[in-house]
Amino acid sequence: MSDGRTATTGSLEFDVVIVGAGSAGCVLAARLSEDPSRRVALLEVGGTDLGEDIMTPGRASLLPFSDHAWPAPTVPQAAAGGRVVPLVTGRRLGGGSSINAMGWFRGHPHDYDGWAAGGAPCPPSTTRWERPAWAWAPTRWWIRGRAGGR
Ligand SMILES: Cc1cc2nc3c(=O)[nH]c(=O)nc-3n(C[C@H](O)[C@H](O)[C@H](O)COP(=O)(O)OP(=O)(O)OC[C@H]3O[C@@H](n4cnc5c(N)ncnc54)[C@H](O)[C@@H]3O)c2cc1C
Repeated sequence: MSDGRTATTGSLEFDVVIVGAGSAGCVLAARLSEDPSRRVALLEVGGTDLGEDIMTPGRASLLPFSDHAWPAPTVPQAAAGGRVVPLVTGRRLGGGSSINAMGWFRGHPHDYDGWAAGGAPCPPSTTRWERPAWAWAPTRWWIRGRAGGR
């Protein structure tokens, strides 16, 4: 039975087990499970990301100090007078992407073309993700779609 976010299978045997349903883990699980013959398990120690505090963008500044996060302080930083920087990481489905500030900017077109020219491997060809390369031209529509056309 599946509600679209979790699935219960008759067997606990998997081809791939991903530990941590943060930004990277979710993308990895989505990509790997596009092949229906591959059995993928995605494990997350935190709870759901559907709370009102997470879904309300204006509350982002409070989330690092809530139980949606756990502390990840740095080691003492010599360049900061030996101070420890009190960083946090996400502890929910979505990981850091569930509590972050949603700030972003895309790379310069030359960055993408440089990666392609340098031989960056093409993603595996599937119906939804078919891409000839990471060059700017074929990647542009995907990024612009996410940015509301900008
Ligand atoms: C407060 C904050 C604000 C940020 N703001 C921005 C921003 O504005 N823009 C931006 O681009 N980036 C931002 N970031 C950074 C970005 O969110 C992270 O770089 C990114 O989410 C990291 O992804 P990840 O997959 O490497 O790790 P995470 O997203 O941290 O995922 C790791 C997951 O693994 C889980 N986990 C850990 N150990 C176990 C275990 N033993 N078993 C099961 N699960 C486990 C954790 O609970 C977590 O869900 C911010 C981060 C934070 C914390």
